[in-house]
Amino acid sequence: MIENPNDILVLVNKQRKLKEDFIPNHLEPISLSYSNQEKYLIHEARIAFEKLSEDARKEGHMIIAVSAYRDFSYQEELYTSYVKEKGKNYANKCSAKAGHSEHQTGLALDVMGSNGDYNIFEQSKEFSWMKEHAHLYGFILRYPKGKEKTTGFKYEPWHYRYVGKEAALYIYEHNLTLEEYHQVKNML
Ligand SMILES: [Zn+2]
Repeated sequence: MIENPNDILVLVNKQRKLKEDFIPNHLEPISLSYSNQEKYLIHEARIAFEKLSEDARKEGHMIIAVSAYRDFSYQEELYTSYVKEKGKNYANKCSAKAGHSEHQTGLALDVMGSNGDYNIFEQSKEFSWMKEHAHLYGFILRYPKGKEKTTGFKYEPWHYRYVGKEAALYIYEHNLTLEEYHQVKNML
């Protein structure tokens, strides 16, 4: 069980579970200029994402949140519907069981670019922009290509996690996952 669920460096994955009744402090709606519907992040992550999206827009890019905070019961429904549609093996690679999704922390979000669908975000010009800039705002690509064994999830070019600028820079420069960062920093 996770003891520090409100810590911006909190590690949530297949081994580490959040409590069913955990709701993060200070959830705030992302401005609808940068989100497709009312979506929530915790205060620091919301400010950082809006700044990122605003700066990207100045350079002609469109980075829009399509999913952010998800509560336990919503995650349970999502996972169950994946299992029904695609079977358990597939579901486990791309959807987290309730309590094991970092979307429940209010620190993670899925984005789409100007090609209009998060599933094809990797092909958008915004993805290249994110590769170079996300860490400057405190975000990391949480499920990178080739790191499926450490993260437990398939590559997700659209899923970003707020960890703060210092950790994001370190993770970016050393090409780490959040799991590896916790190991390096002896946080596990
Ligand atoms: Zn996600």
